[in-house]
Amino acid sequence: MSGTLSEAFLLADPMTLLMAIVLMLLAASGVWWSMAAGTTVAPRASMCLAVANALLAGGLGVDALGGQAPGLLRDGGGDLLAIGAFAVLRAGVPAIVGEPLAWRSALAVWLASAVLLVAVPLEGDMRWHVRAVHTALGALVAMSCVDAWRQLRRHVRPALSALLITPLFAVFVLLAARLLESFWQPAQTVDVRQLNEFNVIWLWMTLLVSLVLNATMACLIVMRLVLSIHRLTRRDPLTDVYNRRALSEAIAAEHLQLQRGRPYALVMIDMDRFKQLNDTLGHAAGDAALCRLVEALKPCVRDVDRLGRLGGEEFCTLLPLTDLVGALLVAERMRANLEESAFEWQGHPWQLTASFGIAEARPEDASADAVLGRADRAMYKAKAQGRNVVQADD
Ligand code: GH3
Ligand code: MG
Ligand code: MG
Repeated sequence: MSGTLSEAFLLADPMTLLMAIVLMLLAASGVWWSMAAGTTVAPRASMCLAVANALLAGGLGVDALGGQAPGLLRDGGGDLLAIGAFAVLRAGVPAIVGEPLAWRSALAVWLASAVLLVAVPLEGDMRWHVRAVHTALGALVAMSCVDAWRQLRRHVRPALSALLITPLFAVFVLLAARLLESFWQPAQTVDVRQLNEFNVIWLWMTLLVSLVLNATMACLIVMRLVLSIHRLTRRDPLTDVYNRRALSEAIAAEHLQLQRGRPYALVMIDMDRFKQLNDTLGHAAGDAALCRLVEALKPCVRDVDRLGRLGGEEFCTLLPLTDLVGALLVAERMRANLEESAFEWQGHPWQLTASFGIAEARPEDASADAVLGRADRAMYKAKAQGRNVVQADD
């Protein structure tokens, strides 16, 4: 059974396979095109993928036509279309995660290939022509792979990053295989339309990889959407620190660890005389002051700490594995940093200060709310002492 199945695969005609790939690429291009035109989700990345699929369809279409292709295309134009496809893919990879297009390196490889293909006439031993084209294609895909890996590693775990770049890597392997074939089997023609086992397997793999690559790109764009929705639900839109819900969840999770002997402390922060600032300089100045406050606090916390905005001009920092003495040091650093930060609005200087209340979680605290309540009371004591003060709960 498996013998007949593999025979059936190998009996496929390269021309039919080529046409199937071209049609699949055109369909994918149409889907990406409508994504780019009709939605606001990753329009640049979608447009790049639409163009890349269309150019590759053009390049393979010229291969399929062979000698019947129009003059310019026949003389290396089809290859330039294919290199253009991978150049556009290379440029568009960063756009999938919202970064600027990497068009410089892509354009450089395409221009170098164009100069080479125009300078070297298409005659004699065609293997060198095929080798040059596949080296350019491989270089562009390798660049895309490295770039995609770097971008993905910033957002997801290594195992998932590796899985997601596998289709791109598979394209690289397919291109490298064609390049090596021209060295290992020099007697065999480099014409992809010729019926032989290598070409048939290569074309089946190209069809499969093109499908999987397009599906993976769609997955990446959906993932980006999910990540940004997740971020929107957990971040304060003005200051980009955790919002009340995300911070409460983090504190509740930390409180569960308390029973296992893992201490934590909370620092409650409230900007001093913020209403006065709003009334004098205006609401926009108040918003800018809140951002400046966050800028002053952020350098004082570690990666494991969580800074969040509870609402208005009230913030809180969760300090895992920290006792009261450690929390006092952090809060004092925050207080001093804010006091020293120069804030001015439209030429009006304004001294920003805040009051800090600290509480260390105790084993008898039934819930995180108890710790929050004590940090809040300590903060009000700091206000009563004249503000711009750090006060520990006693
Ligand atoms: P204290 O020193 O006792 O903390 O006095 P305060 O003026 O800071 O405190 P109060 O609670 O009286 O005033 C807080 C003000 O914060 C009132 C409200 O208009 C303002 N506020 C709350 N949220 C925002 C915001 O998102 N942006 C701006 N600009 N102002 C806000
Ligand atoms: Mg206040
Ligand atoms: Mg307040």
